[in-house]
Amino acid sequence: MSVYRLLIIGPPGAGKGTQAALLAKRLGVPAISTGDIFRENIREKTELGVQVKAIVDSGSYVPDELTNKIVADRLAWHDALGGFLLDGYPRTPEQVVELDRILAASGHQLDVVVLLEADTDAVVARLLKRAQEQGRSDDTEEIIRHRQDVYAAQTEPLIKTYDERKLVVRVDGIGTVDEVFARITAVLGLAAVA
Ligand code: ADP
Repeated sequence: MSVYRLLIIGPPGAGKGTQAALLAKRLGVPAISTGDIFRENIREKTELGVQVKAIVDSGSYVPDELTNKIVADRLAWHDALGGFLLDGYPRTPEQVVELDRILAASGHQLDVVVLLEADTDAVVARLLKRAQEQGRSDDTEEIIRHRQDVYAAQTEPLIKTYDERKLVVRVDGIGTVDEVFARITAVLGLAAVA
């Protein structure tokens, strides 16, 4: 299976960012995280950052119009022309439509959707630990719970959409970073070493 255009999807705290970085490196494609793009803009106090700070801090989703534009711009960069790994996008049905549109415009389509599975108790525990270590402003218990609810209501239904397209591979996200990465490479038919 040739995999160049991928998504990694799963609840907040499932370890998507960590695995996305490893997998993108392994495949030689850029890992594009909308959450990272938003956080960087917030840190740098750009116009976008100022616009989205309160939303991101509250754990709700940034409006589709804004998010879609950011992703369309980012996917047009030279480094993403041969492939990409999207982490945290699409997260709503409207974003699925937009990604389809972007890909169709260049005659491409998604190769695979990696679903990183982890139950709510495990991901909440992980995020609370990260809160202590990194102090991310959206990692308080109340906002963590809200992010899980938003994911369940808005993003989980997308799995069905991609299942119907036969794109989803499921990976157990509980285990060490290496264990989970080995599962991902195995299910994608990639050699385990870089
Ligand atoms: P997590 O994996 O914990 O959800 P992310 O870094 O992926 O964290 O996202 C952090 C926040 O950035 C989200 O809670 C949301 O406010 C915003 N965000 C990221 N991606 C999107 C998206 N595709 N659509 C809308 N908002 C997004």
